Amino acid sequence: MKELNEHIVCCLCAGYFIDATTITECLHTFCKSCIVKYLQTSKYCPMCNTKIHETQPLLNLKLDRVMQDIVYKLVPGLQESEEKRIREFYQSRGLDRVTQPSGEDTVGGDPMGLPYSTFDHSRAHYFRYDEHVSLCLEKQSSSKDKSKAVLQHKYVRCSVRAQIRHLRRVLCHRLGLPLQHVQILFGGEVLPDHMTMKQLWLSRWFGKPAPLLLHYSIKDKRR
Ligand SMILES: [Zn+2]
Ligand SMILES: [Zn+2]
Repeated sequence: MKELNEHIVCCLCAGYFIDATTITECLHTFCKSCIVKYLQTSKYCPMCNTKIHETQPLLNLKLDRVMQDIVYKLVPGLQESEEKRIREFYQSRGLDRVTQPSGEDTVGGDPMGLPYSTFDHSRAHYFRYDEHVSLCLEKQSSSKDKSKAVLQHKYVRCSVRAQIRHLRRVLCHRLGLPLQHVQILFGGEVLPDHMTMKQLWLSRWFGKPAPLLLHYSIKDKRR
């Protein structure tokens, strides 16, 4: 279970990501509140020690809605319990929920200059209404690959805003493998982590019928 969870768990609090927030410099992900708190005393990524920003590390954090959606999909009940927790928090203080304009994804970009800007949970999942792409993930057949891990469900629908790295996380989670062991390929070409499904579709699959066919390969753990 520990291995399965490593892709969707925050290393700072050991819980599932809440308001998943990714450092743009190294793409490591944490809960928003965990990383914002951590960066009050450090300018370096807690996972890889990359310097996040010379002076204002919060500027290089991005709310990662696609990652949060992945967590909610993989952990049944988490979204509901988190929304309930937030509702109760506001009710207990007799407050109205503060919202921020949609499309404002920069954690440090709060209009008041406060790092703890309130994340609008009512709209946080609007990307669910994004355009979606249908993907088919086939395992790359290779004589070198001794791994028996194969996806149970090879058809995946995801937001056009999802990136290859998100897809890799889902794959690793479903296959129970560490992140470094899975690559995603299109026609033999390894796709970069930062590529979005939209870029992929437009550049490789435009005008063709869904699903877009991708391959994944698994590196042997022993090498
Ligand atoms: Zn956390
Ligand atoms: Zn990092």
